[in-house]
Amino acid sequence: MTASKDLFQHHESFKVNAFHRRSFPPEVFHTFLDGLEKKSAGLLHIRSVGQSFEGRPIRLATIGNGKTTILLWSQMHGDESTATMAIADILQFLVQTHADEATHSLLSSLTLYILPILNPDGAARFQRRTAQGIDMNRDALTLCTPEAQILKRLQQELKPQFGFNLHDQELSTVGTTKELSAIALLAPAFDPQKSDNDVRIRAKHLAATFAEAIHHCVPGKVTRYDDTFEPRAFGDTMQKWGTSTVLVESGHALKDPEKQVIRRLNFVGIISSLFSIASGKYESADISLYDNLPLNGKRAYDVIIRNVKIDHGRGKSTQLDVGISYQVDTHSELPPRLVDMGDLHTFVGLKEIDGKGKTIPQSEPRLGMPFEWEKYVTSPA
Ligand SMILES: [Zn+2]
Repeated sequence: MTASKDLFQHHESFKVNAFHRRSFPPEVFHTFLDGLEKKSAGLLHIRSVGQSFEGRPIRLATIGNGKTTILLWSQMHGDESTATMAIADILQFLVQTHADEATHSLLSSLTLYILPILNPDGAARFQRRTAQGIDMNRDALTLCTPEAQILKRLQQELKPQFGFNLHDQELSTVGTTKELSAIALLAPAFDPQKSDNDVRIRAKHLAATFAEAIHHCVPGKVTRYDDTFEPRAFGDTMQKWGTSTVLVESGHALKDPEKQVIRRLNFVGIISSLFSIASGKYESADISLYDNLPLNGKRAYDVIIRNVKIDHGRGKSTQLDVGISYQVDTHSELPPRLVDMGDLHTFVGLKEIDGKGKTIPQSEPRLGMPFEWEKYVTSPA
């Protein structure tokens, strides 16, 4: 089973059901890893590579014994768990199908090093930052966090040829359309000029491979992430250190609050990319597929209430749309805020609510301020 269409179709048979919600304790993941290691008859190795600031274990899973080395890491932002769920499914797939010719050949060409839940303290709280309050994706140079030190040390020790930097992105659209971005990809720049070298070109081939693999699952919903050089970020730094790195940003789909649709895309995209690296096919992936991906746009809000009446008092009112943001992927602790009002027909709401016949008093909605919208309209199931 190497075709991306087959992987998409058969995902359910490899899906680890312990993870059906985005938030789960890191210990549950470790229990799953231990169980799979036992079942794998020596194929999968789990070892501790250090501890988080609060002493939670950070563990590396190794599978395969090929000469091409690949490092995958997820959840350096504690509330970005979509790829971690997919990693469970990917490991399950590799163990279950290891005797198949295709998987056998993959595991003898590649050695996969997988670091799921790099920020377990953040994951335990389902928050972006580490226990020290640091965004570890801005800590690749100063290394104030033990978690960043571990990631750098592993890169230096293992010298992986390829890297998968796995995240969840803010709610984004496909350019200026109302289509939600399902996944955004980036071959990060290693300098402010966004130069190319062999390392980054390989990453671009890999990003094109990934995009091609998931295109048929979500046509037109794969985007390109902003490629502004960020010297403090790990993707950019890994590229500089010689690991061809692709940033995979899990996006959104309608009616998918637990991101199971996006998890499946990660499963398909990552396994397809691994097969393609193993066979060497990725080298012939057309870079223009990646270059021509539409950029991420900002035409979406978490909630849009349509055609609701704002009561100004003294018999005056306005009918308009109201946009509300939870910023769930970046600041999960914040209450919902009112971020826009007026004609929002060019925007899409992750949740769309018909506000016809409902009224909000003018005293309530203030731009930029917390807004308890559920006091005025009921949320659909
Ligand atoms: Zn992130």
